[in-house]
Amino acid sequence: MFESKESRTELKSLGEFKLIDEITSSFKLENKSSIYGVGDDCAVLSYPDKKILVSTDLLVEGVHFDMVYTPLMHLGYKAATVNFSDIYAMNGKPKQITVGIAVSNRFSAEAIKEIYSGIEQACKNYHVDLVGGDTTSSLGGLFISVTVIGEAENDKSIVYRNGAKTNDLICVSGNLGASYMGLMILEREKTTWQANPNMQPDLAGNEYLLQRFLRPEARFDIHEILKAKKIVPTAMIDISDGLASELNHICSQSKKGCNVYEDKIPIDPETILVAEEFNINPITAAFNGGEDYELLFTIDQKDYEAVKDIPQISIIGHITDNEKEMSLITHDNVVVELKAQGWDSFRN
Ligand code: ADP
Ligand code: MG
Repeated sequence: MFESKESRTELKSLGEFKLIDEITSSFKLENKSSIYGVGDDCAVLSYPDKKILVSTDLLVEGVHFDMVYTPLMHLGYKAATVNFSDIYAMNGKPKQITVGIAVSNRFSAEAIKEIYSGIEQACKNYHVDLVGGDTTSSLGGLFISVTVIGEAENDKSIVYRNGAKTNDLICVSGNLGASYMGLMILEREKTTWQANPNMQPDLAGNEYLLQRFLRPEARFDIHEILKAKKIVPTAMIDISDGLASELNHICSQSKKGCNVYEDKIPIDPETILVAEEFNINPITAAFNGGEDYELLFTIDQKDYEAVKDIPQISIIGHITDNEKEMSLITHDNVVVELKAQGWDSFRN
């Protein structure tokens, strides 16, 4: 569906070491904690008085991304930023990544370089160093595994999923459901294109939603905003599987319940417009869509004044004592029980 590159260098003509050199040589180390990057058996890092956060995500072709509509540069960018998001969700800062890739000979050296140019762009934007990885062949499909290393200032600054207290305010950054509607558009265009490969995909006007899905950003700013206001969230998680699922993680791990309000859920007007085109309730996209990479967090009641006017943050509800009871209060004051799965019944 998206145009492929014209020049093509076969991976086996280049060889593993030349390929590694070509994809990694333009990366520069930025961080003090990166002592030694690519080139030896291990990278060397130094964190004398910090706590270290580590997380890995594995992306599998056909499961996590569809080569028909995923530009390789965006794939590289997204593979990096979704990992950064996990570090921000602990209230830390990402500093290094390692990247493992497995590729079949269906991919050219140019294709791999394109993935790496996306990774490099993400590393530059977020001041993260690529310090290593592994490169191997695959019999089918493309696999990308990214491990991110981040730092937390100290024990007290780390925010877990299990710290929410009764009456804490539930907050969310940015807006929800946009990424899911971006995916819906791409799936629709793919179906049209498969029926008639001469048809050009009609993606104009939906750039924001497509960007949210194909090239998501991680919320580096929330950490800074909260720090400036001296607020440490009581619990936090990033929204990768949809608001319902992430609320469920915070509530079950904190042994609490929650009330959230439909009219407080931040949804972009473009998401609403496209959801209507697809006959999807926008609130369903927000609760069950996923891949928003926004942050969901809880704060103490006393911090209400400090957050209520921050434009990047919406207060959507509060934590309750009723363990395992997650309620959505709709526009017309109906209380709907939220379930992480099978919650689609609300659609009507
Ligand atoms: P080893 O045999 O010890 O696994 P490699 O030859 O695989 O070493 O890797 C050589 C160097 O290149 C190492 O520093 C490794 O971290 C780095 N490297 C290998 N593949 C990648 C990759 N896909 N992305 C980034 N760095 C890589
Ligand atoms: Mg290796």
